[in-house]
Amino acid sequence: MPSPSHPSHPSPGPTPGARIFADHAATAPLRPEAARAIEETGRLLNPAGQYASGRHAQRVLEDAREHVAELLGADRAEVIFTASGTESDNLAVQGLAYGAKKTRGPAARRIHSAVTEHPAVVETVDWLCGGVPGGGTPQFDHVALPVDGSGRVQVGESGAFDAARDALVTCMWANNETGNLQPVHALVQRATDGGVPFHVDAVQVVGHLPVDFHALGAATLAASAHKFGGPKSMGILLARRDAALVSPLRGGGQERGVRSGTANPQGAAATAAALAAAVAEIEVQHRRLGEYRDRVLSVARTIPGAQVYTDPDGGALAGHAHMAFPGAEGDSLIMLLDVAGVDASTGSACSAGVNRASHVLTGMGVPVEVARGALRLTFGTATTAQDVDRLCSLLPGVVDQARAAGMAF
Ligand code: PLP
Repeated sequence: MPSPSHPSHPSPGPTPGARIFADHAATAPLRPEAARAIEETGRLLNPAGQYASGRHAQRVLEDAREHVAELLGADRAEVIFTASGTESDNLAVQGLAYGAKKTRGPAARRIHSAVTEHPAVVETVDWLCGGVPGGGTPQFDHVALPVDGSGRVQVGESGAFDAARDALVTCMWANNETGNLQPVHALVQRATDGGVPFHVDAVQVVGHLPVDFHALGAATLAASAHKFGGPKSMGILLARRDAALVSPLRGGGQERGVRSGTANPQGAAATAAALAAAVAEIEVQHRRLGEYRDRVLSVARTIPGAQVYTDPDGGALAGHAHMAFPGAEGDSLIMLLDVAGVDASTGSACSAGVNRASHVLTGMGVPVEVARGALRLTFGTATTAQDVDRLCSLLPGVVDQARAAGMAF
C-alpha cells in the first residue's frame, strides 16, 4: 500500500490557467509536442542493446540527434545529450580546461569569464581555479571579463586571447536574470583569432532566438530542454568534433565519451519535438512577448525609484522584464504576487531562505540594498494579454505594500 504521504499518482499541481505563470525563464510549460513524444516513446528499452528493441531505441535517439542538429546548425555528431543545462556547462568548461592542459600544456591555464554568469559556470570556474578539495595548487587562474552597467562584456576592454596562456573563454549568450544579450559573436571571433576555445552558455537562448552553431564558431554550446518547453533534466551540449574536450565523467563512453551513462531516447525525442515547435514560432513569440515586456516595463518605470535592468535597446530576450524597487524586499514582492495569484521570482538563486542580493546585479554595479528589491517577470507560451493587463494593474500596489513592509536585516 502506498503511504498517504507518497501517493502512487503525484498531484498535477495547481489548475493551469487559474494563476498567472510569470516565471518562464526558470522553466517553461511542457509543450504538447513534447508530451506526445514522451507518451509515444515511454516504453523504449536499452539504446545500447544489440537486439531489436535496442536498435529501435537507438534509432529514436539518433533521429532526435539529427533533428536537434538541423535545428541548431550543427552536425549530428556534434550533438551530445546530457541531463541538464548545468551538466552541459560543467562538461564543456571542465572538459575544455582539461583539454587545454592535455593538448597545450600547463601554461594554458587562464579561464576568462564574467561575474554575471549563471552559477553552473561561476561555480565550475571557481572550482577549477580554487584548487581541488583537500589541497593542491590550483591548475587554472581566473580572469574576469569586464562588464558594463547592463552586464554586457566590454569586448574592446577584454584584451586579446592567446592559445599559449589561455585555456578557454566562456560567456553566456543571454543573462537569465536580465535577459540582456551578450556580444557572443564578437567575443567568439576574438577567441578564435587567438586560437582559444570558446564555450557559450545558450540555455536561455536556444528555442527563443535563432541559433546557428557553425556560423557562431564556438567550440561548445550548452542548452536545456525545459527552458523551451521540453522535459526537465534533459540538456544538450553541442561540441565541435575538433574541440579538445577531456570529460570529467568516467564510465561507459556513451555520447562520444563526453557524457557516459545510459542515454535517454525518450527525453531526447521529447527535446527534439519541443525544440522544433519552439524554433517554428520564434518570430511570432518574439514579437508577442516583446510587446508584453514593453508594457510591463513602461508600468514599472512609472513607479517612483524603479530601476529597470532589461535593456531591449541594447539587445535582450523578448520575454524578460527585470527590475528593482529600492525600499522593497524582493522576497516580499514575490510573496505578495504569489498571494495575488502570480508566480514570479527575484531571478537570483537564494540559499536556504536567506535573501541575498543577486550576484548578477552587484556585478553590474548595483548597490546591494537596491539589488535586494529585485523582481523578474518572464513571459512565454503560457502568457496571455489578459495576464499582462492584470500584472500591470497589480504591480504598483504590490510595490507599495512591499515597501510598507520594509526591509529585513
Ligand atoms: N545557464 C543558464 C543561463 C540558466 O538560465 C540555467 C537555468 O536557469 C542553467 C544554465 C542551468 O540549466 P538547468 O536548469 O537545465 O540545469
